[in-house]
Amino acid sequence: MENLSGIILAKSIELLEKASLCDRCLGRFFARLGFSLTNKVRGESLKTLLCMKSSILIERGAEEEGLRILSLLARTGFKPAVEHLAKLGIEPPTITPCEVCRGILDNELRVLVDKALEMLSSYEYTTFLVGCKVPGAIVEKEDSLRSLVGVEWSESIKREINREAGTIIASKTGKNASFQNPDLLVVLNFHDMSVDVKSSPIFIYGRYRKLVRGIPQSKWICPKCRGLGCEECGGSGKKYPTSVEELVTEPILQAFRGVKAKFHGAGREDIDVRVLGPGRPFVVEVVEPRVRSVDLEELQEVMNDRSRGLVEVEGLTYTDRSMIGLLKLSAKVKEKTYYAVVKASSPVPLDKLKELEAFFSGTTIRQRTPIRVLHRRADKLRLKKVYEVKVEPLDSDKFKALIRCQGGLYIKELVNGDNGRTTPSFQEYLGVDLQVLELDVIDVQE
Ligand SMILES: [Zn+2]
Ligand SMILES: [Zn+2]
Repeated sequence: MENLSGIILAKSIELLEKASLCDRCLGRFFARLGFSLTNKVRGESLKTLLCMKSSILIERGAEEEGLRILSLLARTGFKPAVEHLAKLGIEPPTITPCEVCRGILDNELRVLVDKALEMLSSYEYTTFLVGCKVPGAIVEKEDSLRSLVGVEWSESIKREINREAGTIIASKTGKNASFQNPDLLVVLNFHDMSVDVKSSPIFIYGRYRKLVRGIPQSKWICPKCRGLGCEECGGSGKKYPTSVEELVTEPILQAFRGVKAKFHGAGREDIDVRVLGPGRPFVVEVVEPRVRSVDLEELQEVMNDRSRGLVEVEGLTYTDRSMIGLLKLSAKVKEKTYYAVVKASSPVPLDKLKELEAFFSGTTIRQRTPIRVLHRRADKLRLKKVYEVKVEPLDSDKFKALIRCQGGLYIKELVNGDNGRTTPSFQEYLGVDLQVLELDVIDVQE
């Protein structure tokens, strides 16, 4: 059997020959040995054992080696070694501060943790995780010692800092350090002695109804000034005074005290289209929230009060990021139902309308990107299914159509044919010019 404790002590001496090390930094080279020990205790113990070893060496006549070990220890400021040398009448060497951590584990760490604690007090959270940025010279010094001496039981200084800081913060705040989706990430920066706190986003799911026409789904920047504010937009920087996005996100952002909020809808509707029925699903992502638990029922009331008559929300619940992808995906394929009021250039006989119902129910539509959105969407061909059409005449040249179809089909173009870019179309089938007067989304499936 190898002399294992002898190996540990020999490695310790080798390390101390290469650099002056504080208790924690010496102990950290053996961090994986023993359980429920701190590196400081490991380092102190090793230094204590080395003091004892040098006593035996001196007693047994190997005085030179004993004194050499004592001065290596005294150089690190280890008191028993300094005092032992003094007792033997030998001038101890000058103390060299730890050449790995340069004292940051004691001094700077405290300062940064205090700073972090102060910043954390303005957040609502239950879990956190500490990370750190440490000057490269410190990490390099530690790495080079590790490889020179060949110690395989060490951990990195960053790990020690993160753990130490995490332990202090947990004990002072009563919150839990957590690696899995922590509410807050606290980064201690030893380069410039700053602390950065990042709170993880919050996701709120809901459905909205747009009760009036004339409100765009997303905030529409003034094309003239690009949001800076000009005469045209009355200094607002916006083309329209409000939007579904603003009406929905602003109260949420305020409640969670976030930096910004992103709106993700399950598909979108034109400015002149209402959304009725159960409404369109959406997810709001609150970036950098300070508050994490808001009563969503109360929030919903506040939102509906503020945007009364324009937009209504319901079913607010907490969700996660994966919901955004699901919404985008489902918007492309899941069923949607519309009501369109259509005007014809000349009267359309009732039996022809009945034939249209039958023809379009179950038909696949070939649709190229509509001309009106070509400036912001790539030109491509879509194949979308119409499941059902129900027509109700309003006048000899006006009718209402209920259209149940696959998500992603442009309805105005299904009606007017978009110069042949959508086929078949109601206009093509009836042989008269058609115009959509009104359009409402009445159901969006999830
Ligand atoms: Zn150190
Ligand atoms: Zn403007």
